[in-house]
Amino acid sequence: MKGTLTFLGSGGSVGVPMIGCDCAVCRSGSPFNHRLRSSALLNIKQKKILIDAGPDFREQALRQGITTLDGVIFTHAHHDHSAGIDDLRPLFYNRQVPLPILLSKETAADIEKRFFYIFHSPQSQQQLTLQLLAEAFGEVDFEGLCIQYVTYEQGGMSVNGFRFGNLAYLTDIRHYTADIWKILKGVKTVIISALRFVPTALHFSVDEAIDFAEKLQAEKVWLTHLSHDLDYLQTNAYLPHHIRLAYDGLEIEFE
Ligand SMILES: [Zn+2]
Ligand SMILES: [Zn+2]
Repeated sequence: MKGTLTFLGSGGSVGVPMIGCDCAVCRSGSPFNHRLRSSALLNIKQKKILIDAGPDFREQALRQGITTLDGVIFTHAHHDHSAGIDDLRPLFYNRQVPLPILLSKETAADIEKRFFYIFHSPQSQQQLTLQLLAEAFGEVDFEGLCIQYVTYEQGGMSVNGFRFGNLAYLTDIRHYTADIWKILKGVKTVIISALRFVPTALHFSVDEAIDFAEKLQAEKVWLTHLSHDLDYLQTNAYLPHHIRLAYDGLEIEFE
């Protein structure tokens, strides 16, 4: 069974161009250097599943022609991954049944706090149904799809990575435990976040992402969640051949 993943956004938390910046990448005319906040659309078994609804979700949905969704997976609650939750409403209007959301207990608690009016106002119709991940690592059936998941930690926040067949999507990763390898073993294509060349406390640098991919021995690696430090052509020239920068609109296949 083949599936596709489309990168709706490949940018870091502030996007590229960054407000107020006049660096070469931010001024670049290349569409490969224009990055909305990180998000992806999966198409598997006739189902459309969104990974993260960040602050650019509305623009991404219009750009990609998304008119229906079968579910949404949240990796974690940071603004750049969850701020678009309000813009999921039109997807509910189209279905008239609540939109299934897959996320951890921790992510659900944070999101419910920040968007209390969606979940706790007496007038609000239930537009979303939350399905919580039972453990830190495991396997779950979400809308008929078998999805494996891992948990790691980013600055005190719990973040989930997901595996769909031979593809894994790991964003906002820096600190993880060895348990992660059990679930990721044998994965062929992996999407990893790498913010910039200079290491940071919360994200892999480009070299750390290369090391991680090396341990995983994945055949193909796509880097996402990229800052304006990473020029598309220059960074790709630096990377090993099987590792490439993702870009907005890129579609890849997996099984
Ligand atoms: Zn992020
Ligand atoms: Zn810049």
